[in-house]
Amino acid sequence: MSLDLVIRNGTVVTATNSFAADVGVRDGVIVEIADRIDDPAASQVDATFQLLLPGGVDVHTHMDSLSFGMQSADDYRTGTIAAACGGTTTIVDFAHQQPGQGMLETIEAWHGRAEGKAAIDYGFHAIVADPTDAAITELSQLPALGVTSFKVFLAYKDGPMVDDAQFIRILATARDAGAQVMVHAENGEMADYLQRQHVAAGKLAPKFHASSRPPRIEAEATARAIALAEVIGTPLYIVHVSCEESLEEVIRGRERGVDVVAETCTHYLYTSGEDLERPDFEAAKYVFTPPPRDRRNHQVLWDALARGDLEIVSSDHSAWSFATQKSRGRDNFTRIPNGAPGIEERMTMVWQGVNDEHITPNQFVALTATNPARRFGLYPRKGTIAIGSDADIVVWNPAAERAIRQESLHHGVDYTVYEGEWVEGGPRTVILRGEVIVDDGDFTGAPGAGRFIHRAAVERQTAVS
Ligand code: MN
Ligand code: MN
Repeated sequence: MSLDLVIRNGTVVTATNSFAADVGVRDGVIVEIADRIDDPAASQVDATFQLLLPGGVDVHTHMDSLSFGMQSADDYRTGTIAAACGGTTTIVDFAHQQPGQGMLETIEAWHGRAEGKAAIDYGFHAIVADPTDAAITELSQLPALGVTSFKVFLAYKDGPMVDDAQFIRILATARDAGAQVMVHAENGEMADYLQRQHVAAGKLAPKFHASSRPPRIEAEATARAIALAEVIGTPLYIVHVSCEESLEEVIRGRERGVDVVAETCTHYLYTSGEDLERPDFEAAKYVFTPPPRDRRNHQVLWDALARGDLEIVSSDHSAWSFATQKSRGRDNFTRIPNGAPGIEERMTMVWQGVNDEHITPNQFVALTATNPARRFGLYPRKGTIAIGSDADIVVWNPAAERAIRQESLHHGVDYTVYEGEWVEGGPRTVILRGEVIVDDGDFTGAPGAGRFIHRAAVERQTAVS
């Protein structure tokens, strides 16, 4: 039987291996990997001098999201086109419960946002922001719908913050349902107290975002979340580890056998507290949470990624317009919507860690595709190049050089935190289930071609009694 597509003369890079091969695709699936595949009837993509990487898997994005009383600047159309152009072919996005909304209703609402718009494949995590008895009970039904991760915030008092009693009930419900719990770990009472102290003292500039959310309050909540998940016996995922203090707590938990996996995000590897000192309110572009930290943490985080203490790099793509949304906090940093874009920049920026010899190409694949696919029930369909996997493949040009510029990005927001960064290596051709969706930097796919991926239950990585 003839193939649909052959990708020729590339070097396949997986989480464990690199080898020269041709890759054959039929019906959107990888069906052949061999030294040489001759099938003149199939479409051909030449990958001479290129690497073949599994399509990126970004498990921390906020598309079409209502937060801080505002609608985010990216919907599923713009956000997933940006993802594709950056080499990401699957996202797991947050379905964000609004006050009073049920969890089933929340998932249904997110299907409505994605359908007809998503240009890449997608799954959902459920954010439990209003943990009523009814909402917690409904969580049990989500794994049957392919939603096997529930997210809570230990911060944002008077917003989506849950208290320990609610958190414990959600942990127990997740354990019994075969789901994992993701946690935004900061002590929300202390963040609220410190914000009020800053405001009362007239400390209103963006730079005070950092001093109102110090590393220790991230570490405290990280340690508490790990301890509570350990006692209940629920697999736990710590989002956006930003600094050494919270990393130490992740390492301590893992050393005593807790099933906890942690990510960092691209911007914690490149931005720092100095960016919050930028003049003319430019600092507001760097108001995300946890805040950018002291520069010494860059090396700490790269080392943790190389050792495997941090297993995933996500974007935490959260797009707020600088001109019209960040500006609401011009006179008071507590009103600046928290978040930064980064879905298109993630793969390229993490690859700079290969150029800088922080990580190997195989570790790059593990951090950006294989590990997130494994932890979130997508593997081996997603996250690797193997017979039987979806043909989600990035033809990566390690020699391409350019400066990152806002005007060449595809997201729906008006800035990038990497403006002017000189980068080497990036996606040339992006293939989703055998279809070329990005060709030499141009999006050639179709909004609506992305499919919802029904995710499996979490793979337990360590035994927890
Ligand atoms: Mn967060
Ligand atoms: Mn987030």
